[in-house]
Amino acid sequence: MREQVERLLEQARQQLEQASRASEVRDVRTRYLGRRGEITGLLRQMSSVAPEQRPLVGQMVNQAKEQMEALVERRLKALESEEMDKRLADEKIDITLPGLPAGPGTGHVLVTAMKRIEDIFLGMGFSIAEGPEIESDDYNFIKLNIPPDHPARDMQDTFYVDAEHVLRTHTSPVQLRAMLERAPQVPLRVIAPGRVYRRDPVDATHLPNFTQVEGLAVDRNITFGDLKGVLEEFARSFFDELTVIRMRPSYFPFTEPSAEVDVSCTVCMGEGCRVCGHSGWLEVLGAGMVHPQVLENGGYDPGAFTGFAFGMGVERLTMLKYGIDDLRHYYQNDQKFLRQFRSL
Ligand SMILES: [Zn+2]
Repeated sequence: MREQVERLLEQARQQLEQASRASEVRDVRTRYLGRRGEITGLLRQMSSVAPEQRPLVGQMVNQAKEQMEALVERRLKALESEEMDKRLADEKIDITLPGLPAGPGTGHVLVTAMKRIEDIFLGMGFSIAEGPEIESDDYNFIKLNIPPDHPARDMQDTFYVDAEHVLRTHTSPVQLRAMLERAPQVPLRVIAPGRVYRRDPVDATHLPNFTQVEGLAVDRNITFGDLKGVLEEFARSFFDELTVIRMRPSYFPFTEPSAEVDVSCTVCMGEGCRVCGHSGWLEVLGAGMVHPQVLENGGYDPGAFTGFAFGMGVERLTMLKYGIDDLRHYYQNDQKFLRQFRSL
């Protein structure tokens, strides 16, 4: 029995030394100390040992068992810590890697387009006027000939801050403010660029906030011909020298007469294509002669002065100029989209 125990102990010791992984050590433990293990087997054979030798043999086997357990434990600890060290080394993250370069920033395509539009009108003698984005109902609607029950309010259904204030639905109130500031001096020539807000759903052609540039000229003897000349000059400067415009009768509460203004299609040059719906024309802005009542609200005598006004959406103009097919691209901050316009 003693020899058998010593042989098992020696075998286990060798196997433990050869084990290179914690799982192999656990296998050795099962082989000798498990429920069907060799040492456990010896304890079961105690019945075949002579009764007077049992205490001695029992003690010997138990000592061997304890010894083996200690060996297993030691080897297991050593291998586990080795394996942990190896894993830590493998999974080490090198935080000294250089980051991605940020590169120089560029103007957003809308900002660039807006500057271009401003430059064109500055060149024609207009100056830039600004006003608040939270506007009074009075300035945003009533003084522009849109009383509370007017159906035109529905088209601009908007964000009310309180009963008397709205997020402006157009930059027209800025025109009014400019008139009240300058009246009765002439000539008055201003453009009003800025953000406007309407309760529109977000899709390829609508956003709840967008950018407008409106323009206003007041002087003696201003005619519809002056309006057409200014818009034609703008269209040629912004799109292409060969661009022509056409004006169709329309309605706005603050101008009379009013017109929708189209430019010849920038893609097919008027031949007709998918972009222009095969009409050869693209609708780009609204315009008209300032309504006498609005002139009067602005402090100008409509008997002595006339004026014209126009308004355009910067997002739409920019879409047409660069062939952008979805308004949402402007506000998603996708650098792959924005980078295309960095050299403009
Ligand atoms: Zn076309």
